[in-house]
Amino acid sequence: MNEVKRPKKPLIYYYTIVLLILLLFNFLAMPWMMERQIQQVDYGTFITMTEEKEIGQVEIQTQDNRILFTDKDNTTVYKTGMVDDPDLTQRLYESGAEFSGEIIEQMSPVLSFLLTWVLPIVIFIGIGQYISKKLMQKAGGPNSMAFGMGKSNAKVYVKSSEGIKFSDVAGEDEAKENLTEIVDYLHNPDKYKEVGAAMPKGILLVGPPGTGKTMLAKAVAGEANVPFFSMSGSEFVEMFVGMGAAKVRDLFRQAKEKAPCIVFIDEIDAIGKKRDGQIGGNDEREQTLNQLLTEMDGFEENSGVILLAATNRPESLDPALTRPGRFDRRVPVELPDLKGREQILKVHAKKIKLADDVDFEKIARMASGASGAELANIINEAALRTVRDGRKYVGQADLEESIEVVIAGYQKKNAILTDKEKKVVSYHEIGHALVAAMQSHSAPVQKITIVPRTSGALGYTMQVEEGEHYLMTKEELENKIATLTGGRAAEEIVFGSVTTGASNDIEQATKLSRAMITRYGMDEKFDMVAMETVNNQYLGGDTSLTCSEETQTKIDNQVVELVRKQHEKARRILMDNRQKLDELADYLYEKETITGDEFMSILNS
Ligand code: ADP
Repeated sequence: MNEVKRPKKPLIYYYTIVLLILLLFNFLAMPWMMERQIQQVDYGTFITMTEEKEIGQVEIQTQDNRILFTDKDNTTVYKTGMVDDPDLTQRLYESGAEFSGEIIEQMSPVLSFLLTWVLPIVIFIGIGQYISKKLMQKAGGPNSMAFGMGKSNAKVYVKSSEGIKFSDVAGEDEAKENLTEIVDYLHNPDKYKEVGAAMPKGILLVGPPGTGKTMLAKAVAGEANVPFFSMSGSEFVEMFVGMGAAKVRDLFRQAKEKAPCIVFIDEIDAIGKKRDGQIGGNDEREQTLNQLLTEMDGFEENSGVILLAATNRPESLDPALTRPGRFDRRVPVELPDLKGREQILKVHAKKIKLADDVDFEKIARMASGASGAELANIINEAALRTVRDGRKYVGQADLEESIEVVIAGYQKKNAILTDKEKKVVSYHEIGHALVAAMQSHSAPVQKITIVPRTSGALGYTMQVEEGEHYLMTKEELENKIATLTGGRAAEEIVFGSVTTGASNDIEQATKLSRAMITRYGMDEKFDMVAMETVNNQYLGGDTSLTCSEETQTKIDNQVVELVRKQHEKARRILMDNRQKLDELADYLYEKETITGDEFMSILNS
């Protein structure tokens, strides 16, 4: 753990106040309490006790005009006022008591001052500083204490020996390759300086949530063995204008002191959003952004501070942030492909005990589209399930079930379908599967289930792609739409009526056919003209139309036409295979969950 500078002033203030209170107590309250222990007697009693030789020690305090004395056994202290008594000395001498006048201060006033005032203060502050330092180290930074506003909350994270390495981040080979150069530079800056090459000041990691952007940033620091400062964009945005900017300043000050180092800003879009130029816009955010830009311009090339930032909405960033000299390098961190998913599963499976039957490739195939975080979650869900069932090893079935948990929600154990509903759902799901299987281009079915999920899905057909697809042909897309309509088509053919169960299919089919027409140029009428743009590639992918109202009407008509055609195709496929449809639906109704292999063997029997 790196040592961190502390705000010193406020600490000493607090300690001084506490110390003064203690000293005041010492000087005022202590003598008062001691005084209360002394019994007051009149002078007559004192004389009597003297004559009866009942006193032990006597101290005559002429300055305070009183006499302090103890009884014979020195157990009780008495006091009495002094009167003009010339025989006092004689009387005391005869009583045999030990007596003396006031004890004169032996110490020099300077030494006494040092001992009573300066020494306690020094010791007190010393202990205080030590304790606060320990506390801060334990808590991991100055942020853990509420000292000083406007301090950055950057968590200093350095433990190169235990730190995350590139090998911990599975898949993402391109991103790693891209970042290896940074690591090399941090190891060997002179090599770059000699040639006159400058490292980019800022690197933007762009990709959907949970793909390992934070991990990659940590891994760069881990590989290069340099300190790692991490802060989230939203942490900069404060209630008071100017505070965020102060935090940015503080973060960079710390970073420069520790250079070479990595500064990581997660969710940079929280501060880096396009400035809209509206009056009364978000002043605080803009000031924070301006300060960040200023800081980035301020540090020289090759200063050793490398700024990494992550976002899943790169299009919303202010252009000033992405222009050369700032975040001018963009590293895409995409969802993992089949091989990547398998590797991620293996990395996370190292932590759990596995049964022999586990087939990671199959799991990876089934979890198509899952992010790294979701895959990690799948492994953990499977482990939890194993514990719940009182077993010791995580098996293939656990992993397969947890894919559905993560993708489709927990099994709804207590949702009871009526017999009729269960029948409809069976036919619906087999309809999808059969249409998919009968079209040569569609991927075969992996698993079909009619066990309801908490996500609201009553049944579920899991399709598995044989290999990774990057390009899809027009026919494949059309077949996909036909498969989506297959559920409804089966209901129509068998029951002659339709249910609400197809709402999700309808949504997907519409989206797909719309995209074919407006974005993929797959409609003859519109040729290669784009009529829609994607606003948000990584989050949901909402689109906006960029055409006239007249064209929109035509697009709508074409979409309907396209879906209708595929729906008709699906119906024809099912009618041609009516016997198989019945056979398979009955089997699913009985078993509730059937595998792709079972499905295929019935289909081919
Ligand atoms: P991001 O910053 O992109 O949202 P994180 O880096 O925080 O994602 O990843 C979240 C979690 O997901 C990690 O802690 C890790 O367990 C898992 N994870 C994500 N991607 C990977 C990967 N490529 N390899 C291994 N684990 C991953």
